[in-house]
Amino acid sequence: MIIIILFGPPGAGKGTQAKILIEKHDIIQISTGDMLREEVNSGSSLGKTAKSIMDKGDLISDDIIMSIIEERIKKPDCQKGFILDGFPRTLNQAIALDYLVENKTLNIDQIIEIKVDEELLFERIEQRKTEGDLVRNDDNTEVLKNRILIYKNDTMPVLEYYRDLKRLKTVDGMQSIERVSEDIKKLF
Ligand code: AMP
Repeated sequence: MIIIILFGPPGAGKGTQAKILIEKHDIIQISTGDMLREEVNSGSSLGKTAKSIMDKGDLISDDIIMSIIEERIKKPDCQKGFILDGFPRTLNQAIALDYLVENKTLNIDQIIEIKVDEELLFERIEQRKTEGDLVRNDDNTEVLKNRILIYKNDTMPVLEYYRDLKRLKTVDGMQSIERVSEDIKKLF
């Protein structure tokens, strides 16, 4: 059983690196964002609540997120391990996660931050806009800016929390996909 947490602001290449990691370690990816988008598409009551919040790039409440995670990690496909993508995003979620894994006598093996210069993120956002490959409702410039801001305000404290506990490993996300992936590989 291997548990990995991958951090990175929107546009840091987190999704790409997560895909490389799941193949290498034969584990699954748990993306709270993907799960919420499925709820939105299915038209469930949770999906209806989540949609307007997600469209603005704001955060869904910790209670909802924790119940989604708790249910998800019980499933059989998680038994080999999983990579958490987009979770925990707040200090409360991180603390609740610690409690959850401790209760299940599990261990978080790697906590990895893909660190990217904020300027570069805004450049990438502008570039994606001009390339016209915006596929998500929350992928427009203003919303992305809000998501980066929320990352700074709500998620950076989570990184500090893990850093203080000496559990956080940081890789330079300003490099090519291959180099970032090499650096992540070296952590194992
Ligand atoms: P993502 O695909 O990870 O960027 O997530 C898309 C959106 O889903 C976010 O902008 C939030 O509105 C919501 N979301 C995903 N994960 C979380 C989380 N752990 N806590 C709160 N909201 C979340």
